[in-house]
Amino acid sequence: MHEMAIVQSVLDIAFSEAEKHSARKINKIKLRIGELSGVVRDSIEFAFEVLRQGTPAEEALLEIEPVPLKVVCRECGPAETKAGDLTLICGTCGNGLEIVSGREMKVEYIDLE
Ligand SMILES: [Zn+2]
Repeated sequence: MHEMAIVQSVLDIAFSEAEKHSARKINKIKLRIGELSGVVRDSIEFAFEVLRQGTPAEEALLEIEPVPLKVVCRECGPAETKAGDLTLICGTCGNGLEIVSGREMKVEYIDLE
């Protein structure tokens, strides 16, 4: 389950931040997860529950902000994709669409105490 590896790297970032600021504990971690990142939110939450045990993030809140998929067509400008339609072809002109956002998976902020 690659969410375990993702959450571990998120926690590693949080722990090094905590160390840098001599924080005793981590109150909150906020993540942005793109619709197209391939990351499953429930799995992230589950992995977080497991991996934070016995760490400074044991009581931390995990906030996840989903980032919707946004695409643009070079010919037509901003384009729509139907949910679950990952062909990324413009419905108007048939050109390939470029992804503007929705692929990211990043730590937005870490709240320390
Ligand atoms: Zn187009």
